[in-house]
Amino acid sequence: MNTSSTPGDQAVLEALAALRATVGEAHVHCPTGPDDAGYRSQQTDWRGRYHGWALAIVAPADTDEVAAVVRVCARHGLSIVPQGGHTGLVGGGAPDASGRQIVLSLRRLRRILAVDTTNLTLTAQAGCLLAEVQAAAAEAGLLFPLSLASEGSCTLGGNLATNAGGTQVLRFGNARDLCLGLEAVNAQGEVWHGLSGLRKDNTGYDLRHLLIGSEGTLGLITAATLKLYPAPRSQQAALLACPSLDAALALLKAARDVLDAQLTGFEVMGAYPLSLTLRHQPVQAAVLSALGIDTATPGGNAAALPAWLVLLDAASPLPAAALQEQLEALCAQAMDAGWAQQAALSQSDAQYQAMWALREAIPLAEKSEALMVKHDIGIPTSRIPRFMDDAAEALQAALPGVRVVCFGHMGDGNLHFNVQGPAGMPASDFLKQHQTQVETIVYDLVQACEGSISAEHGVGQLKRHELAQRADPVKLGWMRAIKQALDPQGLFNPGKLL
Ligand SMILES: Cc1cc2nc3c(=O)[nH]c(=O)nc-3n(C[C@H](O)[C@H](O)[C@H](O)COP(=O)(O)OP(=O)(O)OC[C@H]3O[C@@H](n4cnc5c(N)ncnc54)[C@H](O)[C@@H]3O)c2cc1C
Repeated sequence: MNTSSTPGDQAVLEALAALRATVGEAHVHCPTGPDDAGYRSQQTDWRGRYHGWALAIVAPADTDEVAAVVRVCARHGLSIVPQGGHTGLVGGGAPDASGRQIVLSLRRLRRILAVDTTNLTLTAQAGCLLAEVQAAAAEAGLLFPLSLASEGSCTLGGNLATNAGGTQVLRFGNARDLCLGLEAVNAQGEVWHGLSGLRKDNTGYDLRHLLIGSEGTLGLITAATLKLYPAPRSQQAALLACPSLDAALALLKAARDVLDAQLTGFEVMGAYPLSLTLRHQPVQAAVLSALGIDTATPGGNAAALPAWLVLLDAASPLPAAALQEQLEALCAQAMDAGWAQQAALSQSDAQYQAMWALREAIPLAEKSEALMVKHDIGIPTSRIPRFMDDAAEALQAALPGVRVVCFGHMGDGNLHFNVQGPAGMPASDFLKQHQTQVETIVYDLVQACEGSISAEHGVGQLKRHELAQRADPVKLGWMRAIKQALDPQGLFNPGKLL
């Protein structure tokens, strides 16, 4: 227990005793300080930008225990930071430095509760890893299509609380579109039993949609009922080297025409993030070599790489040969039209996985490279090429030598537009001196395109001030009124989102 910060604080001791009595001694852990190595992953966010100090990390076993923990915290005035896999990228799951917040881990709520193969639904507890939910669906011969690079460590509750997007949004929508019902605990410690598997239910305000994307500020999600889909009969990916984003956009349009609902993903990777990937994960070079792209230059030379690499994913109820025929025709059309200079189709499951591994290696390579000013922006797809030109020009004019690390879900109009300082400048200096300036340049241009400052990662701590400045004031007023009505004590995740 962090007695150094709470000498003689009887109320805190009583709260801890009540929490221990609620979930058991073994499930209440008290870090000794922000640097307690035993709790680093719970007290620091995935990107390492927010370090906090929790009074206790509490891990209830089930929904009733979650509700009981909330009642204890409400009684003792302790705020709660919900945590799933703690892979969020905006600091939403990190405690503050006060040593007075409870991190409430949902990780012990980890059961798949039901699979209904006729209704095409799966019900699971919030602490299930996304990969476990996908596996349970696959075991029943079905598909749960939400897919993120972090799926081996993020949880269903976190996916819903952030309304996660990922790589299949183009076809299946984001987490919100895949959820039919929720079970959640409110700030009074009551349980809402809303695990409906209905596709139609117009009985008033849809609390499910209020909670999804609320980042732990309105309620604690303890379980969800999800939509399943028939598993595709065939699935294939293509990598195409495009000379420009205009060319990639023309390819996207053609892919929609040719593949229609079979088009499940359309990702882009810029030359510079590809070069970082080759530098930090040289094993990825094999995928590019298969395209005939020379990666022999040590460290990955961005100038030698295609301006944009598109990863296109298609899944179909048709046999593999029929899908392959359509993809070959699309690739041929792209080469003829000059939208692509090289193209390769995956010919085996191993090649399919390798193509996706290349795309998913980028955020990890970025992390190994340096801290960057990160933006997860939404832009109407038609405006992406112009935005990229304008943003690159404005950034170079203001800060010569900065490097843009751009990749993402172009088919959804969602780019990860990250900015690294000039070569030779320590990343921490760049962030300290220029983060606000870079964000202002980028977000002003995003707003001019009627875009979003957070397409899929959420607001958390990182974009809270930006939201306060840029969101529609009426929307902000409604959000604050909802928060006040549902959580008047400000118990759930204070300092995040609003
Ligand atoms: C390598 C990598 C790739 C990623 N790719 C993507 C991507 O493609 N698309 C995307 O959208 N995101 C992506 N992310 C971000 C992250 O994985 C997602 O936001 C994920 O949904 C978070 O789940 P989690 O369980 O880790 O949530 P956490 O990080 O634990 O929490 C996220 C937020 O939700 C709240 N929360 C967590 N659980 C609950 C609950 N049960 N009830 C109420 N509130 C809760 C937390 O308080 C916090 O505010 C990526 C992250 C990494 C590290």
